[in-house]
Amino acid sequence: MIEFLPLKKVTERYSDEIHRAVLDAVDSGWYLLGNEVSAFEREYADYIGSRNCVACANGLDALWLILHAYMEMGIMEPGDEVLVPANTYIASILAITENGLKPVLVEPKWETLEIDEDIIESMVTPRTKALMTVHLYGRLSWSGNMSEICRRHGLKLIEDNAQAHGCETLNGRKTGSLGDAAGHSFYPGKNMGALGDAGAVTTDDGILADTIRTLANYGSSQKYVFPYRGRNSRMDEIQAAVLRVKLRHLDEDNAVRKRIALRYIGGITNPLVTLPQQLPVQSNVWHQFPVFCERRDELQKHLQADGIQTLIHYPIPPHKQQCYCEWNDINLPVTERIHAQELSLPISPVIADQDAETVIKAVNSFR
Ligand SMILES: *Cc1c(COP(=O)(O)O)cnc(C)c1O
Repeated sequence: MIEFLPLKKVTERYSDEIHRAVLDAVDSGWYLLGNEVSAFEREYADYIGSRNCVACANGLDALWLILHAYMEMGIMEPGDEVLVPANTYIASILAITENGLKPVLVEPKWETLEIDEDIIESMVTPRTKALMTVHLYGRLSWSGNMSEICRRHGLKLIEDNAQAHGCETLNGRKTGSLGDAAGHSFYPGKNMGALGDAGAVTTDDGILADTIRTLANYGSSQKYVFPYRGRNSRMDEIQAAVLRVKLRHLDEDNAVRKRIALRYIGGITNPLVTLPQQLPVQSNVWHQFPVFCERRDELQKHLQADGIQTLIHYPIPPHKQQCYCEWNDINLPVTERIHAQELSLPISPVIADQDAETVIKAVNSFR
C-alpha cells in the first residue's frame, strides 16, 4: 500500500526536535501571543524575504485578513472586484466573498495551470481593486508582467501561497514576497505543516501588517480598546514552536519532493497520461504532482488496484459548487477540463524512491 500522504511518517522524521519544542512550549506556561510566535514571525519573514510576518489561525483567515485590512484602510469597499483564478481551492474565493467583495473568475492556461495573464487586463473594470494569484500545486504563478499589469491598473497583488512555501523565481525571490501581501497556510498536509491549523501573512507594508495584527486580535492592539470589529485568529505557541522546527527542514523536504518529481517525469511514458509542464527547478516545490488523463477515474481505479492511493485536486471547481449556485451556469472550459482530468500522484518528503518506481510502473501499465 502506498499512502498518499503518511503524515505520521512526516512528523516522525523530526520527532525528537518536535517533542522538545512542544514540551518547552507546554512547560513555559505561556500559550498565546508569546515568544514562540514572535520568533517564528521573525524567522519566517527572513526566510520569505518579506519585511513583516503576522501569524494567524489558518490560511483562509490569512487571505481574509489581508482583504479585510485593505477595507478598513479605505483601499477597498464592499462590491469591489478581485481577479482570481477559477481553478483554485475554495478558500481563495471564500476570502473574497466573505468580505463582501466580488470574485472575478479568470480562466487558467491549460499548459501552465496558472491564471491566464493574457486575459487579465480585459477583465479589469473601474471596480477592480486586486489580483489574487495562486501558486497552485507548488508552482510559481507570477511574472514581472503580472506585477506590471497590477501597477498599471492600480491593483493590489495578493499571493495565495498556501501550497508553495520555498518556491522561488529565477532570480531567487520567494513566493510570498512578490506582491503586496501573501497568505500562507500551515495546514498539516502543506509543504510546511503544523500539527493542527496555522497560517500567516507576509507583507512589506508595515501599516497593513499592523492592521492585520489588530484585526486578528478582536480588532484591538491596546487591551480593551477596539478600533475595529475584528476576530480571534491567533496562532498557538505550540504550533509556532513546531513550525520553527519545520522551517529549519523545509528546504531539505522540498528537495526530496523535487527528486521524486524528476523520477516521475523521467519514468512516466504512457501516452494516455499528460505530465505537468516543467518549470525551472526552483520554481516548483511540488506540493502536488498532478497528471492529466481523459479517463482519469479509470486511471485512479487502476492505481488503487495496485495499492496506490491518489487524490483529485479538485473534483468540483468553485463555480460548480452549491455554495456559489449563482455561478453554476457559467462556462469555464479550461477550468472544467482541469478538474475533469487532474489526478495527483503520491508525493511527499517520505516517499521512497522504490515506491516512486512502483507508481511509475503502474501508471505506464494503464491501457
Ligand atoms: C489550504 C489552502 C488554503 C487554506 O488554508 P487553510 O489553512 O486550510 O485555511 C487556501 N488556499 C489554498 C490554495 C490552499 O491550498
